Amino acid sequence: MTGIETTESTRAAAGPVFDYAPAPESRDIVRLDPQYGLFIDGEFVPAAEGRTFTTINPATEEPLAAVAEAGPADVERAVAAARAAYEGAWGRMRGRDRAKYLFRIARIVQERSRELAVLESLDNGKPIRESRDVDLPLVAAHFFYYAGWADKLELAGFGPQPRPLGVAGQVIPWNFPLLMAAWKLAPALACGNTCVLKPAETTPLSALFLAQICQEAGLPPGTVNVLTGAGGTGAALVSHPGVDKVAFTGSTEVGKEIRKAVAGTHKRLTLELGGKAANVIFEDAPVDQAIEGIVNGIFFNQGHVCCAGSRLLVQESVADLVIDRLRERLTTLRLGDPLDKNTDIGAINSAEQLDKIRLLADVGSEEGAQRWSPPCELPSRGFWFAPTIFTGVSQSHRIAREEIFGPVLSVLTFRTPEEAVAKANNTPYGLSAGVWTEKGSRILWMAQKLEAGVVWANTYNRFDPTSPFGGYQESGFGREGGRQGLEAYLDV
Ligand code: NAP
Ligand code: MG
Repeated sequence: MTGIETTESTRAAAGPVFDYAPAPESRDIVRLDPQYGLFIDGEFVPAAEGRTFTTINPATEEPLAAVAEAGPADVERAVAAARAAYEGAWGRMRGRDRAKYLFRIARIVQERSRELAVLESLDNGKPIRESRDVDLPLVAAHFFYYAGWADKLELAGFGPQPRPLGVAGQVIPWNFPLLMAAWKLAPALACGNTCVLKPAETTPLSALFLAQICQEAGLPPGTVNVLTGAGGTGAALVSHPGVDKVAFTGSTEVGKEIRKAVAGTHKRLTLELGGKAANVIFEDAPVDQAIEGIVNGIFFNQGHVCCAGSRLLVQESVADLVIDRLRERLTTLRLGDPLDKNTDIGAINSAEQLDKIRLLADVGSEEGAQRWSPPCELPSRGFWFAPTIFTGVSQSHRIAREEIFGPVLSVLTFRTPEEAVAKANNTPYGLSAGVWTEKGSRILWMAQKLEAGVVWANTYNRFDPTSPFGGYQESGFGREGGRQGLEAYLDV
């Protein structure tokens, strides 16, 4: 599809400009069925009430498949199957045997990773370069990592005989569909729990392929169940009395509702919610690397990233230089077909999300910030939003306070490190932050002062299964990843 043209000034500076030939990844490797059932007790079954919904490719609006919509009777069946597996084969299994299943799942994910990457890009709209090089390797790494813990739980620091919690009800969002499924399932299974997973309505397919992989790996029936559906399915799952543990990743708004729904019950809860992270650039930062970090921070996955560096705080003395370089860099980003291997920016996941991004961007202009996007032709079908930066943003602007969850960067400036910290922490969220400086002592000082679960130094959006991830304040509580991630699934 369309590449982005460079502006005249960059063109003059950079010499002759070459365009890329199309390099589409073939979608033939994915064989889609016209219809998908729910995965309950090791089998694919239609929803009890026979309801279905359609999932589409957001880059083309083409329907991909009809998917079963789980109602209360299906939640009942899935929770019962998970309970039976917990009291049966999976619950009785020794850690070293659970590990074998997790290793097997990890290896099948690797074997089928090209197929899964194409599927994820089709259903979600993210560039194949990201699903292939980021999402899929991390999915396999998560299963490998937690497989390694399954027979060593007594060494994890949670007592001599840590026990699982029972049946976990897990609800995940659409921005990293398969990766969020792995973040939920791998630690839960390693600890000996059984799971009922509810993927997001707009991206149900990769979780269903993962269910096939569980079948292929010979996982005992009922150990993992997948209930596709909308918000109502998620609400029915988290409020089911047979669920012992609720794990949710999604918006702060829904997280608050879930917290109310489980209050006063025996259920344990972890919430991974939204963010409005500051990416802080000091005047001594290596500018070229920082520019790459800013771009990766906010334009990776179309900005549909809870820990996105959506507020750029740049020291005043270098602000003009950084903004000029950033604009130049943005003119080289390529927006278009997610399956093209040269694409940097894919489609927005849904019409609803596109409306939300447009609305907040319009508010940014109305409130007096200066909006800029590179020249960028948007495809006529599908959901698209050009990479956008706002300068002249003040802390009271909505675009500096609210999560946009799209490719929109708000730029603010600061003069002193103290001012940077005060501005960075001036948010109800607290998931992540970035610091760019040559000074090691300043990195450590900032990391102590920033109220954020993850602080990246001279890098951004880096993930690893060994590293705990999670938030403060309205970004939620509990950690996923690392040894700490086991705690959420153990009775400690
Ligand atoms: P969302 O609307 O909160 O949805 C998340 C999941 O919850 C979806 O599966 C959704 O189903 C389901 N759901 C909706 N209403 C529910 C209810 N009342 N009870 C139970 N489940 C319900 O969030 P989203 O728009 O999909 O995702 C974007 C948000 O997730 C952003 O705010 C982002 O920051 C956050 N996020 C956080 C992290 C993190 O680790 N902290 C990671 C990724 C995303 P439907 O899909 O059918 O609506
Ligand atoms: Mg879809």
